[in-house]
Amino acid sequence: MSVPARTWIEGACTGCERFWRCPAEDAEAPVCSSCGAAGPELSPGAVLADGSLAACMACGHDEMYWARDFPRRFGIAVVVVAAALAPFTWYLSLAAGAVVDASLVFFVRKRLHCYRCAAVHHGFPGAGHWRAFDLEVADLHRFGAKSAVAQTLGAGHAPRHGRRLDSAR
Ligand SMILES: [Zn+2]
Ligand SMILES: [Zn+2]
Repeated sequence: MSVPARTWIEGACTGCERFWRCPAEDAEAPVCSSCGAAGPELSPGAVLADGSLAACMACGHDEMYWARDFPRRFGIAVVVVAAALAPFTWYLSLAAGAVVDASLVFFVRKRLHCYRCAAVHHGFPGAGHWRAFDLEVADLHRFGAKSAVAQTLGAGHAPRHGRRLDSAR
């Protein structure tokens, strides 16, 4: 199967560190709109038959974590409006705001972040095959053998990883 429709990728530009974004099915490497540097060529081979990802499309690394596409500004707006209305609604607006805030979690989709190159994959099915962000795994990617986790565990211990939960390895 090919790359699912309406999926897109964003990643940090190596030239200016701003974020480029492009449709995931683009065959050509994305170009940064700020400085014109070329990003990595996206690999359709990272997409499995069911449209989910086996690895990062930007760098091929197989350790990723999900986060929710939560519109943070919207969440803050809900709280502000609820607080502003509180004196006129016997403070019921605060309770309503809290309910709206909490229920958002169930409606927003998950996106997948690559631990290595930080590319973000939006709109792909099956993000639940991965785990949420794990500071230990991120540490291992940033600092390698020098990370606190690696130091504590010492040699010979299998550190935690960010691969798909259903991967065979
Ligand atoms: Zn750039
Ligand atoms: Zn990557």
